[in-house]
Amino acid sequence: MSQDDIENSQLLEKCPVNEQECQWLHELASLRSENAELKLLVTTDTLTGLYNFRYFQENMGREMERTGRAGRPTSIIMIDIDFFKAINDEWGHEAGNQALKMAASAFKQAVRSSDVVCRYGGEEFVIILPQTTLPTAVGVAERVRLWLEQTRLDFEGDTIYLTASFGVGVYTKEKEMSLETFVDSVDQYLYQAKQQGRNQVCHADYSEVKSETSVSAEEKTALFEVQKKPE
Ligand code: GH3
Ligand code: MG
Ligand code: MG
Repeated sequence: MSQDDIENSQLLEKCPVNEQECQWLHELASLRSENAELKLLVTTDTLTGLYNFRYFQENMGREMERTGRAGRPTSIIMIDIDFFKAINDEWGHEAGNQALKMAASAFKQAVRSSDVVCRYGGEEFVIILPQTTLPTAVGVAERVRLWLEQTRLDFEGDTIYLTASFGVGVYTKEKEMSLETFVDSVDQYLYQAKQQGRNQVCHADYSEVKSETSVSAEEKTALFEVQKKPE
């Protein structure tokens, strides 16, 4: 069977030599499913089931290229769980692992299906928001922050609460910087959120990106909601 025959049978989903029980099609199906499993393994974090750091780099690289070509901004939210070491110290490593799973599930529930939630490493996470302006991304980060704050983990009769600090930034066509430089720039806002007392969202100045993005009515509303949040 030639390469062309194999490709044709993939397209047609039928045996190229019209056999009832085609061994090639069986083989193709099993190779495809193995391939899908392997892909999942190399891009998934085993503890939380989120995308891993490797996938973050691949996906963000693609989104930054797309932003460069098409001009739509790509935002990211960097997240670091507050005082996570204290959870391990007080309840043990297994409780820590369960808390990480709980946080992962809260993040997934609080964002849209088009947003890409990844475990960056340890107790750090990053969310990619394709085609999203800074005000919208800040609104999403605030929703994620509240969602986590309101989620709790029951562990051996105790209730564990989690909060996190958030840094939000936007990659625009004009930036033309590497992935690492962009991530470092957003990390500074996360650092600022830690310094200012944790459990909060810090982000780039809106005036910095005003000329680069047009803010829709929906985004203005989201921004207004964030700004009027109670202390
Ligand atoms: P901060 O508010 O400044 O972020 O404090 P923190 O305690 O969260 O930060 P620190 O970097 O001191 O501690 C992070 C801890 O996360 C230490 C490390 O043992 C724990 N950790 C990292 N990965 C895992 C994991 O997969 N499972 C568990 N249980 N703990 C982990
Ligand atoms: Mg950390
Ligand atoms: Mg932490």
